[in-house]
Amino acid sequence: MRELVIDLGAIVHNYQSMKSRFGTKVLAVVKADAYGHGMVEVARALEAAGADALATADVQEALLLRTAGIKTDILAWLHDPQDDFVEAVARDVSLGIANLEQLGRAQRAAEISGQTAKLHLKIDTGLGRNGSTAAEWSHLLDAAALAEATGAVKVVGIFSHLSGTSEAEDLKQIERFDGAISQAVAAGIRAELIHLTASDGSLAYPQAHYNMVRVGIALYGLDPFSAHRASEYGLTPAMTAKAQVSQVKRVPAGQGVSYGYLHTTDAETTLALVPVGYAEGLPRNATGKASVTINGKNYKILSRVAMDQFVLDVGNDDVKVGDEVLLFGDPAAGAPSVDDLADACDTINYEIVTRMGGRFKRVYLGAGE
Ligand SMILES: *Cc1c(COP(=O)(O)O)cnc(C)c1O
Repeated sequence: MRELVIDLGAIVHNYQSMKSRFGTKVLAVVKADAYGHGMVEVARALEAAGADALATADVQEALLLRTAGIKTDILAWLHDPQDDFVEAVARDVSLGIANLEQLGRAQRAAEISGQTAKLHLKIDTGLGRNGSTAAEWSHLLDAAALAEATGAVKVVGIFSHLSGTSEAEDLKQIERFDGAISQAVAAGIRAELIHLTASDGSLAYPQAHYNMVRVGIALYGLDPFSAHRASEYGLTPAMTAKAQVSQVKRVPAGQGVSYGYLHTTDAETTLALVPVGYAEGLPRNATGKASVTINGKNYKILSRVAMDQFVLDVGNDDVKVGDEVLLFGDPAAGAPSVDDLADACDTINYEIVTRMGGRFKRVYLGAGE
């Protein structure tokens, strides 16, 4: 038994608590299978709770949500040349637009589908990633205004994304974003939704909430990569990863354990086998650093994490086959935090949760429970 227990109630609670804290519209980011929590299930729970809007990276992900019956507004912003804008427009998926080429495709898609394409124009205010350059921005605005005049498209939003490099850099981006919005107004674009901040910026810069924020990691109850702690904001981690001990055995001193014998027993001891490996998303470099919890006690993973399993040296503790092994979960409920695991593996919580999968079975706790 390997389970990822996903608390949809926690996700809805996190959504609602941010909504009331920020006092803006809140766009719930459900890309990458809702950061490993299950995109369709999370979207259904948020829709039932009346979420303002959802966001995915790809059009493909957005269309999957439509096919699953999700009716809430969806924005998709990361496109490749094969993405089906016609299908997106026909199924009312809003498109993030970073350049003239994408605008042209959206306009053609609107003409083919006979429906107005809803667009969010994206300006790169300094992250150096997706979005229009400052130099192209005025051309993009003029072209969008022309396209609006034909009725093919409607610019419903303007957005950008912070780098989180430092407060000084973020403040520069906020200033550039304000400039980009003024330019849009001057070009005759009346976008209803203005959004800049993701989880980190939303917690850090109340002055930059505009009228919508985009939250991903905080929605799942986890800390963004900054000094802002989700728990301080009353957010609850939604994912618990657990398994059961599948074998225990007594071995003598001097027993090498797992590949490379990174651990050798120093006395007679009990080894407990846990059927979770890097195929499940437990990083191989958790070896020697991360700890898991059994019966309320933490055990470091001393020996090599393999594809399917790892072994714990539990000494003379009474650990039995079937005992629950907590990899991470809600620290308030006695589990190691996902940040503990991420820190041990020299990565961030985002990477841990989005990669959880393999043979883990997802089990959902309902939003109503
Ligand atoms: C992923 C993403 C988000 C969400 O970021 P979090 O840090 O998880 O809140 C918001 N905006 C953009 C453009 C993104 O790519």
